[in-house]
Amino acid sequence: MANIAVCARFRPLSSKERRDHTDGVFIRSLDAETFVLKDEKQEEHEFSFDRAFYEGSEQADVYEFLALPIVQDAVNGINGTIITYGQTGAGKTYSMEGPSILDCDEKKKGLLPRVVDELFTSIKISEDASKYTIKLSMVEIYMEKVRDLFDLSKDNIQIKESKVQGIILSGVTEISVLDPADASQVLSRGIANRAVGETQMNMASSRSHCVYIFTVQRELITDKRSKTGKLVLVDLAGSEKIDKTGAEGIVLEEAKTINKSLSALGNVINALTSSTPNKANHIPYRDSKLTRILQDALGGNSRTALLCCCSPSPSNASESLSTLRFGARAKHIKASPHVSCKDDKYTKKIGAPTPPPADECCQRI
Ligand code: ADP
Ligand code: MG
Repeated sequence: MANIAVCARFRPLSSKERRDHTDGVFIRSLDAETFVLKDEKQEEHEFSFDRAFYEGSEQADVYEFLALPIVQDAVNGINGTIITYGQTGAGKTYSMEGPSILDCDEKKKGLLPRVVDELFTSIKISEDASKYTIKLSMVEIYMEKVRDLFDLSKDNIQIKESKVQGIILSGVTEISVLDPADASQVLSRGIANRAVGETQMNMASSRSHCVYIFTVQRELITDKRSKTGKLVLVDLAGSEKIDKTGAEGIVLEEAKTINKSLSALGNVINALTSSTPNKANHIPYRDSKLTRILQDALGGNSRTALLCCCSPSPSNASESLSTLRFGARAKHIKASPHVSCKDDKYTKKIGAPTPPPADECCQRI
């Protein structure tokens, strides 16, 4: 069983942080995976992740290490999830989208457009006789409601569970995308719908969790059997504490809801990594919409990667510490993804010593 891949990313100092940045070393890299963070009391905390990225890191480096293996698996019917976590302003959306989803600057492209490119490249070079369909859905979780970003009239999508497909968003709009340019246009429509909310709902875009869902269906032309990989990207709402934001009114309510769902995510991770795991161990996925949507990702049937985004400034030390502690905890989760076949009740565990004998469909593809 593979662990969740967890990486840390420290963005460059902002101009304001650069002006205020007085003391010397706040983060000290020991090697590619390990670094030390000095908190406000000058105490040092060592973290060891799968990889740490610093201000000089390129978007392509993060993509290739964190996302590329997951995207390649999705084409082969293995579910994947990529999550960005961290306080507001830490670089979650920059890492996920880049400066803009339609930005043509190759260097600055975020994970999302790179995922799109790779999906289409993989299916183009695939040599077998398969027909591929790539569909895209986009939702945001705002105040514990799941809103369809392709159809704003669907503002309270219900989450259901199916034995074959896992977690499903009931009635969510799915748009078939034909090529990377088409996918970018569709994504930018969804993002624009999120931005409309920004003025109406007090910066809703950082006060909500944004979920991008790619469904990659591969159908064998010879005998019509198919398998489906679901690739979910999640740009989480800011993880900062309420007291620091000085929030009141609706902003306070939003912050409380975010904290509740991120706490629920923490509780699920704690339950999954508890030192006395047993089969009857209750995992509280149903405590929030976020954890329910991420149930497949965290509960096993997905290859999952978590990018912990941090400010490099000592003024955000306690928030960065809390983000990194969250990542350190998540690193212990074990995942056991398997290929999903539409017309076969059997599935094939990745790395399982003996695949289910009747699993013809999965073995042949
Ligand atoms: P978040 O989504 O976590 O609230 P953003 O992604 O919006 O934060 O980033 C906040 C600001 O920092 C933005 O202006 C963004 O362009 C900039 N930024 C974040 N990460 C990087 C990076 N790796 N390189 C350059 N600028 C970055
Ligand atoms: Mg953001």
